[in-house]
Amino acid sequence: MLNVSFFTFNAFDENTYIITNEKKQCWIVDPGMYHDDEKDALFSFITQKQLQPQAIINTHTHLDHIFGVQSVIDKYGIPFGVHKQESEVLKMAAGSATMFGFDFKNIPQPTFFITENEPLLLGDDALQVFYTPGHSPGSISFYYPKGNWVISGDVLFSGSIGRTDLPGGNTDTLLNSIRKHLFTLPGETKVLSGHGPATNIAEEKMHNPFLK
Ligand SMILES: [Zn+2]
Repeated sequence: MLNVSFFTFNAFDENTYIITNEKKQCWIVDPGMYHDDEKDALFSFITQKQLQPQAIINTHTHLDHIFGVQSVIDKYGIPFGVHKQESEVLKMAAGSATMFGFDFKNIPQPTFFITENEPLLLGDDALQVFYTPGHSPGSISFYYPKGNWVISGDVLFSGSIGRTDLPGGNTDTLLNSIRKHLFTLPGETKVLSGHGPATNIAEEKMHNPFLK
């Protein structure tokens, strides 16, 4: 059984998730630590819980979701996986950082690609991968049916959806991703978003103004 914990990091209030199993193996999803105290918080959590990080898996690679990737790689030497359609976004990361006024030169490079419909395995547990582009060209969502939750990145938020005005974004594509892959999940499925509070599928189907 997988469990999820989360932290909220950086100027964008980005949610970083840690997924653990009973063997204390873990994945780190979207490590967004920017300041040293944020890195310390995540690393202390891992040390205190005696976790063994296995990989970084990212829903997408906008700056606020990758600020802390290199620090995790440096500390634990673990692989970093993204969808291959994010390669172009990563190439633009240094430029975007300068534009937004962030000191961020050490752009991480993926060491493996995550493919839709190819489950990610942590010990005996599997996460399903949905390809949910629209906010970013290679946005993916991680679904764990046994735990009734999905990590949606910046695709779906409580009462909102991801912005689509960044390079590679497209509103129709995003809405289609949500309807096809997220709104087909059971209503009680908890949605763990890249920003803001958790919600569930039934709630968003009923009240999300962007999906009426
Ligand atoms: Zn984003």
